[in-house]
Amino acid sequence: MKLARALLIFVILLFCNDTCNAGIIGKDAPDISVRKWLTPNPPTQADLKSRVYVIEFWATWCQPCVKSMPHIMELANTYKDKGVIFIGISQDNSTRAVQKFIRRRKVNYHIAMDNATSRRFPFASIPTAFVINHTGKVSWQSHPLDPDFELAITRALAAAPQSLLADIDLGPFANLRPHLWGGKNFALAYNILKKETNSESTIGLKAAKILKTINSRIEDKTNQTHLLRQTDPVASFMFYRWIVHNFGSTEPAKPAETALKEFENDDNFKTELRATNAVFEVDRLLANCRRCPTCYIFNPECQWCAELNKPATTKAVELLTTICQHFPGTKAAAGAQAKLDKLNGNPPQSKSATNLQKQTK
Ligand SMILES: [Zn+2]
Repeated sequence: MKLARALLIFVILLFCNDTCNAGIIGKDAPDISVRKWLTPNPPTQADLKSRVYVIEFWATWCQPCVKSMPHIMELANTYKDKGVIFIGISQDNSTRAVQKFIRRRKVNYHIAMDNATSRRFPFASIPTAFVINHTGKVSWQSHPLDPDFELAITRALAAAPQSLLADIDLGPFANLRPHLWGGKNFALAYNILKKETNSESTIGLKAAKILKTINSRIEDKTNQTHLLRQTDPVASFMFYRWIVHNFGSTEPAKPAETALKEFENDDNFKTELRATNAVFEVDRLLANCRRCPTCYIFNPECQWCAELNKPATTKAVELLTTICQHFPGTKAAAGAQAKLDKLNGNPPQSKSATNLQKQTK
């Protein structure tokens, strides 16, 4: 079984090397170049550094774009507190038309008129959204109504060092600020503060106050992750790992450390994680597929699209089949099966239909 899994991962890597290179996934996001920002306080290229952000290409004359907009606004609203920046780059010619449009729709994210940014991003049609992670690499590309859009954002967020403690007033301890972003020096800074609390001076009281804030922020994050664990263990695992990576070896990170250890001893979970990662690789493969002239985006259910991307889709089918066989009963395998049905042009089966089939067999 172990050998089979190792083989599967090897096969996935092999396939991805020759097909994934064609697209932009995993590569540095090109810089944005705009003619004009139409919304206030636009982000600069420096603002985007180390941040998770979304770039979407759209136009007012494109019906699917207009249809996608409420969803993007919803996501922009959900993720604004988490620091995700949403940018819509219009492919319209008329600035006035876009201005009128976004005012009427009360668009809540950044909108700009393009200045050839679209030529630097490889997409065949609009709307197309790109998720860029904190390392500046494109981590996802698809239609904004793709159900995996939000997952791509949460994945990028989970991997990003968030400024959980960046806004704390440090007073006399301002020199510790760089360590509060988390990482290997965090414990050092934490212990300096802890030591100061021993003195009953103003400085000691200030240190105690800062520590209290730090503890409660990390606790909140951990509690949110506990909640997530009940519905999405794989996502929660990534958040626990993030907490431990950033704040490990300190008191408030202990519950996250415990949770990680539990995951490490949980074979069912480890299988789920491997299966999820394997499906993610297939997603990357499909994200680089081209669309046919009649589709707005690569549509696996469309015969022309499928024909155009035969090598990639054939590989995807093989990989998804292997995933279903090797990881039966996992959530990821169920997702893989759904993708497989789509690729094979089968309509999604309802539960009762599946049962019926089983009975006839
Ligand atoms: Zn098509």
